[in-house]
Amino acid sequence: MSLKILVVEDDRQISNFICYALKNEGFSCAAAYTGQDAMSKLVSASADILLLDLGLPDMDGIEIIKKVREWSEMPIIIVSARDRDMEKANALDSGADDYLTKPFSATELSARVRVAARHLNKLSGHAGAAAKTVGGLQLDFEKRLVYLDGAELHTTPMEYNLLAMFFKNIGKVLTTSYIIKEIWGIGYGTDTQALRALMAGLRRKIEKTPAAPRYILTEIGVGYRLVDE
Ligand code: CA
Repeated sequence: MSLKILVVEDDRQISNFICYALKNEGFSCAAAYTGQDAMSKLVSASADILLLDLGLPDMDGIEIIKKVREWSEMPIIIVSARDRDMEKANALDSGADDYLTKPFSATELSARVRVAARHLNKLSGHAGAAAKTVGGLQLDFEKRLVYLDGAELHTTPMEYNLLAMFFKNIGKVLTTSYIIKEIWGIGYGTDTQALRALMAGLRRKIEKTPAAPRYILTEIGVGYRLVDE
């Protein structure tokens, strides 16, 4: 059975384009054109992944994310206009998993949906893996050790915690404010200086070319993402 994606988008041209591209990839697709329509379809018909435009005529997309998160861990990919970084960060902090910036290509869309589909498999499968690998990078959760190309890598406890957070969220964008809250705790505010310094130190250890990272990518104005490969 193919995965079903609910596409919530009021622009019918974009909605048709998305569904056409998803069907080409072997997914099944249902469309909702308003927030109300989306909520009733989410309740009545089962969907595996939600693709959500934040700018809907009747409802704020963020409200839909919060409502869905009350009962479901389903992957949510938001669709947002360019230069709305605050909006993207807000949606991710509210529980969205990823975002696509308009305009996007069919290739970009299917890549994002495939990542979400893999997460879905992991949700029902082996969630508590003892070690995870991304490219030449491996993290052993039990021993709290990091390996790069087979060799043990010495990290500080803070660097390990940061990297472990990314390994628990492979492929997912983590917002700057989320990372700061998780690493330093609530009340640390939104001072990104310390995070940038910590990230620079970690990148010097894990990246061959820290200025052009291949593992942890910067999502400008939003946060960071550990690649899924
Ligand atoms: Ca819209």
